[in-house]
Amino acid sequence: MTVPILDLSRSFGEIKPEVLAAMERIFDAQSFILGHEVKTFEAHCDSYLGVPEGSCVGCASGTDALLLAMMSCDIKPGDEIITTPFTFFATSGTAARLGAVPVFADVDPVTYNIDIQQAMTKITPRTKAFLPVHLFGQMTPVEGIISELHERGIMMIEDTAQAFGATRFADGGILRAGTVGDVGCFSFFPTKNLGGCGDGGMVVTRDKERADRLRRLRVHGSGTTYYHDEVGINSRLDAIQAAILDIKLSRLEAWNEERRKIADYYKLLFKTYDVQEFITAPVELAGNYHIYHQYVVRVREKRDALMEYLNAEGFGVRVYYPLPLHLQPCFAYLGYKAGDFPVSERLSREVLALPVFPGLKAEEQESLVSAMRKFFRK
Ligand SMILES: *Cc1c(COP(=O)(O)O)cnc(C)c1O
Repeated sequence: MTVPILDLSRSFGEIKPEVLAAMERIFDAQSFILGHEVKTFEAHCDSYLGVPEGSCVGCASGTDALLLAMMSCDIKPGDEIITTPFTFFATSGTAARLGAVPVFADVDPVTYNIDIQQAMTKITPRTKAFLPVHLFGQMTPVEGIISELHERGIMMIEDTAQAFGATRFADGGILRAGTVGDVGCFSFFPTKNLGGCGDGGMVVTRDKERADRLRRLRVHGSGTTYYHDEVGINSRLDAIQAAILDIKLSRLEAWNEERRKIADYYKLLFKTYDVQEFITAPVELAGNYHIYHQYVVRVREKRDALMEYLNAEGFGVRVYYPLPLHLQPCFAYLGYKAGDFPVSERLSREVLALPVFPGLKAEEQESLVSAMRKFFRK
């Protein structure tokens, strides 16, 4: 049996007729950039996320969402942005592109998310923003530090690329990933929980002025066509992406629920197949609604050998992420060295992502965990 790390075709079947109808509508209209389809999708995202009308601003990718968010916070060369080294590159790459300085704080070994206490010790007079990542689909509990950050003149930009639909129960209410800080950044890369058929992204902010500015920044800083208030970029969501995303948004809750069931079943299987002493299952923090963008376990020993064995047996398992950002060659100029962030470095040697996606079958999970058992108990 072969089990892929991800098979998008299994959930596409259910929406195919709707998608094809939307494509016909768009090609008949011959209107491809922004426009009606994008407005409709943005409005649906406003209500899904429970933010005021006009808060969601579509753009061309998750990377651009981060870049636009930083531009809307006036991030300038030399400004410091406190963030995690255990994430996808774009989180810090965008800061660097603006000449800002990524300042790393290590992550929590249980959730893989930034260690908030350590992050707070990194604040300096040059700190302009705090940039947590809700990694693998689980929210970082950042609600408690918002007021302190604001008192110190620091903005919070959430990298929500992996967490569309993740929530957290805190302060007596439901917090939605991307809406806790000043600006939230989403990616609609095809493999994300809400993914298009190409690149796409979105910025969300409750601040109306900032939302208006983001709408200008995505079209070269122009409010009125050919009149430019500031220098922006070209980063627009297109009609085809918006239409598909809008259809998928209506299924997102069910699909996220399915991912959670798959996660529960893995946990049971680790017990059933008696491999618990070799691996650590992901932990859902109290109050969190984890949406398992990735199902990432820790393998205490021989992670690489296990991965090789499973891949050879036909199981798609992968490592996110093999090299923390503070050790990336392109960030050598920041002056970090091995040993600076021991938790991130250890995770990069121990993590392994198992398949999790709508349509994954129980038998597939069973045969994967049974292969893990064979590896450990041969
Ligand atoms: C995917 C991702 C991004 C970038 O999104 P793109 O749409 O690929 O540009 C940024 N941050 C994280 C954590 C991601 O997973």
